[in-house]
Amino acid sequence: MMRLPWFEHRAPRTLGEAARILAAEGPGAMLIAGGTDLLPNMKRRQMAPKLLVSLRNIPSMKGKAASPGGLTLGAGLTLTEVLADPRTPTALRQAAGQVATVHLRNMGTIGGNLCLDTRCNYYNQNYEWRKAIDFCLKKDGAICWVATASKRCVAMSSTDCAPALIALGATVKLVSPEGEREIPVENLFKNDGIDYLTRRPHEILAELTIPGKGKVRLTFPNAWQNSAGQVTQLGVPVQQLQFHPADGAGFAILLEIIPVGMEKARELDTREALARPGQMELANSVEKELNIQDFKGEEAAGSYFTMTDKKLVNTAQPPLGEYKYVTQGCAKLEDLILSFRVVSNHTAGDEKTAVLKIIKSACLVRQPTP
Ligand SMILES: Cc1cc2nc3c(=O)[nH]c(=O)nc-3n(C[C@H](O)[C@H](O)[C@H](O)COP(=O)(O)OP(=O)(O)OC[C@H]3O[C@@H](n4cnc5c(N)ncnc54)[C@H](O)[C@@H]3O)c2cc1C
Ligand code: SF4
Repeated sequence: MMRLPWFEHRAPRTLGEAARILAAEGPGAMLIAGGTDLLPNMKRRQMAPKLLVSLRNIPSMKGKAASPGGLTLGAGLTLTEVLADPRTPTALRQAAGQVATVHLRNMGTIGGNLCLDTRCNYYNQNYEWRKAIDFCLKKDGAICWVATASKRCVAMSSTDCAPALIALGATVKLVSPEGEREIPVENLFKNDGIDYLTRRPHEILAELTIPGKGKVRLTFPNAWQNSAGQVTQLGVPVQQLQFHPADGAGFAILLEIIPVGMEKARELDTREALARPGQMELANSVEKELNIQDFKGEEAAGSYFTMTDKKLVNTAQPPLGEYKYVTQGCAKLEDLILSFRVVSNHTAGDEKTAVLKIIKSACLVRQPTP
């Protein structure tokens, strides 16, 4: 049986008191929330803090507040509590629901999930196992067993909630005796397996805020409204609208609305296209035609290209039928990417013109923060 090392335990009742203890005790002290990550790590002697400062008795760490400006969640809420709140956005709900098992979600907190230690297969082992291979850079050793030529630990965080929170544009509030600061979740992480957070050692992650939902307003030609409304409420990472002309003519439009940050994961060419409009190089060769054009609407700006390539048509997931021509493009609308594909058998381009008109008409409507 693996036993915990000896440690002292403090259970402050306010965030200020916790921050003062943490700052005064220095590197020998660590925060503990649910303990689902920290306590197994201590049993494996990956860390042996002299003092644990518990966050469980601090009521403000359990707060929840919704306003038109967004949803604020205390970092001490358990993942189960986050999941139980109907206001939790779908993306975060899906991510939090995948963490471990019910028991761990009942104990583990959303703050602990963001701050959990990095690991790899060589590190996620008990003391004797790691000793047998002569330890590693992250603790007590001189080599990285994953990348033996590396001077840097390449262990990774396994947080499931961070990607969803990044895609949703969430921020975290960090509190210390010197004051507080708010940073985007994506800026919380560093590309280093040992020094993996930009959180300073005596800062406490107190809460996180997910910005309020926006509405994308798009104007569709009447004949195309049969399968999409004019206002799309954003609540999931990617909204896909599919619609066809009412008369069933040979073309279809697929329009995706993607929060910036998610497009990397979707392997779209959108970021490249937006960085260098008009100069996109495609991984897939285009057989006959590639015509890249810039466009600028009132709110959205981007570029599109037209091609004739059956292979690419297949990637566009069109409804059943034979399509040859694809117009594909993207536009940036504040923190959203509008990515669109028109698949068609017509070369005339009426549908192309129409979809570009739709994209140019796009505007983002946000409720004002009170
Ligand atoms: C068997 C098993 C399976 C798991 N599977 C998954 C999984 O699938 N996906 C996943 O994402 N995670 C997984 N985890 C990791 C972990 O259980 C969860 O991420 C959990 O949410 C961690 O939260 P906690 O409150 O228990 O963190 P703790 O263990 O209390 O703390 C983790 C770290 O964060 C620091 N910390 C905690 N709260 C704060 C705060 N408010 N401010 C600053 N620092 C803080 C602690 O000092 C510690 O270093 C798994 C763990 C186990 C044991
Ligand atoms: S240095 Fe980091 S990545 Fe390399 S073996 Fe150790 S924990 Fe794993």
